[in-house]
Amino acid sequence: LLYNQVQDLKGTIRVYCRVRPFLSGQSNRRSTVDYIGETGNIMIVNPFKQGKDSRRVFTFNKVFDTDVTQEQIYIDTQPLIRSILDGFNVCIFAYGQTGSGKTYTMSGPDLTSEHTWGVNYRALRDLFQLSKARLDVIKYDVAVQMIEIYNEQVRDLLVSDGSARRLDIRNSPQLNGLNVPDASLVPVTCTQDVLDLMRVGQKNRAVGATALNERSSRSHSVLTVHVQGKELVSGSILRGCLHLVDLAGSERVDKSEAVGERLKEAQHINRSLSALGDVISALAQKSTHIPYRNSKLTQVLQDSLGGQAKTLMFVHINPEVNALGETISTLKFAERVA
Ligand code: ADP
Ligand code: MG
Repeated sequence: LLYNQVQDLKGTIRVYCRVRPFLSGQSNRRSTVDYIGETGNIMIVNPFKQGKDSRRVFTFNKVFDTDVTQEQIYIDTQPLIRSILDGFNVCIFAYGQTGSGKTYTMSGPDLTSEHTWGVNYRALRDLFQLSKARLDVIKYDVAVQMIEIYNEQVRDLLVSDGSARRLDIRNSPQLNGLNVPDASLVPVTCTQDVLDLMRVGQKNRAVGATALNERSSRSHSVLTVHVQGKELVSGSILRGCLHLVDLAGSERVDKSEAVGERLKEAQHINRSLSALGDVISALAQKSTHIPYRNSKLTQVLQDSLGGQAKTLMFVHINPEVNALGETISTLKFAERVA
């Protein structure tokens, strides 16, 4: 291993909590975050309660406060990204209610500003840089897929009519690590290629939806980076793959209010997020049965969850008082998988 920092990451499942700052223009700045400790503790306070019951502490591998920059977030993630070039599979998830900062962490607020780029672009930039640095030893090829899982159907985000066609999930060693072999697989050689593809993906994600935010909050998007390296001397091939997953909003939908399509979406989201939670917590407990089959999401990611693969989940919370209920349920979910 050229990059053995990854060995320093104890265990294969990490959970990081990130607290979104108050947005400019928000007047009520009372926060439910009472305290963030150095060792991964976060204390949530309920301002409507008094005494011991009003506070609750959760513990994760790390907690990032509101002032942590995109760059600092990435520095912590970098060893995982680098391990892909050594043939590891990695899944990085963004979990949280709509508006808590998932897309901000993964993509950033604005593609045009390198300064605020999210994990996605930084990861690819890094992979290109590192693979160049190894060019005299290993030749790497990088290709990406971008899919969306909406109502338990898998769609290709890199073709314009992708939303019309449902894709199958097939797990087969013959497919070079492709679990969704029919989704477009686009070779990329520089960050500009990636930015162009992201724009295509984002545009296609909006097709058929009344508003981009609406649709994106109710589907999971999965950007998969496939890396294949060929050692020049031995000719041996290694493969690694990185899944960057911006999950559907985790908010619970009031069953008495949601009807029709909205209710169906909510049920699919609930089911797939809990299936993901079940898989990760089974892995964390080293259970012998890992229930991958219960959702499309866990089927797509199956060979990158467990085994030698590394998992990182960013759980996002919105510090506003009116988000308290969702904040607690987000942190409980995260505690279960940690
Ligand atoms: P989600 O994808 O979870 O629905 P977004 O990433 O779209 O949430 O974030 C909601 C809003 O908050 C956006 O306007 C985003 O730019 C802003 N935001 C989220 N996280 C941060 C952050 N860490 N710093 C500054 N603004 C943020
Ligand atoms: Mg989003």
